[in-house]
Amino acid sequence: MVFLNGIFVDKDKAFVSVMDRGFLFGDGVYEVIPVYNRKLLKPIEHLNRLQKSLDSVSIKNPYNESEWLDILIKLMSYSVSDDQSIYLQITRGSDTKRVHTYKDLKPSIYIESNILKTRTKKEVSKGYSAITMKDIRWDRCNIKSTSLLANILYSQEAKKANAEEAILHKNNVITEGSTSNVFLIKNGVLFTHPAGSKILSGITREMVLESAKSINIIVKEEACNLDDIYDCDEVWISSSTRGIIPITKIDDKLLNNGVVGKLWKGVYEDYLQYIKLLKS
Ligand code: PMP
Repeated sequence: MVFLNGIFVDKDKAFVSVMDRGFLFGDGVYEVIPVYNRKLLKPIEHLNRLQKSLDSVSIKNPYNESEWLDILIKLMSYSVSDDQSIYLQITRGSDTKRVHTYKDLKPSIYIESNILKTRTKKEVSKGYSAITMKDIRWDRCNIKSTSLLANILYSQEAKKANAEEAILHKNNVITEGSTSNVFLIKNGVLFTHPAGSKILSGITREMVLESAKSINIIVKEEACNLDDIYDCDEVWISSSTRGIIPITKIDDKLLNNGVVGKLWKGVYEDYLQYIKLLKS
């Protein structure tokens, strides 16, 4: 079952118009919300970010917070799985002509829930590789837009290189991953690019920063140079569906001799505790 424009329907019966501006232009925004034990992870934070994205592109939010929660809870109940990943998108809607400018349209709302396959601690603890690529995206990366062409190309390059992620750099500064936020540990201090228009400020990023502070890691929301990434103690990436992932190899260079760092372990444990609370 999926949710489309006010009704729950089978996915193979869910259709939108070819005139939908989401289809024609990628004119829409989205959210991905993880679900553990049929409980939404940080729903209010996700809905707040959705509101910000909608405001940035002048699309009216079709529902209030409690209406969203009712829809999401109902959608979750159709799933066979206790752990899910909810994908929610709102496009500007359909017009009669393909023109760049828009008028007041009825937004199209689509939500689906997929089974969330979480990686085991043992798997994650082996570490992952990443490649680096030049960040050629626009300067409104804080909008969680469905226009993801650049991110798609980066992810595909990472896949071709058998890497977990493409880490992006702009003007020699590390911004974020193609689908994640990036953290560097240098001499016990955690660095991550500051929130703003150059990155999508992740909900998991906030969790990482809170966890790090709770275990007395010094946190600096400051950008790092590209060179730092080959020469730091630990690199992590974070996203809603992947959690917090340690990177041990970047562009064929091993970090910390390919061994997962100890600060990652502390933050990851704290994150797991949070998930465990949802599971109990
Ligand atoms: N940056 C980008 C470009 C992303 O696509 C994502 C994942 N949606 C993130 C950061 C991480 O955001 P979150 O932790 O909210 O999933």
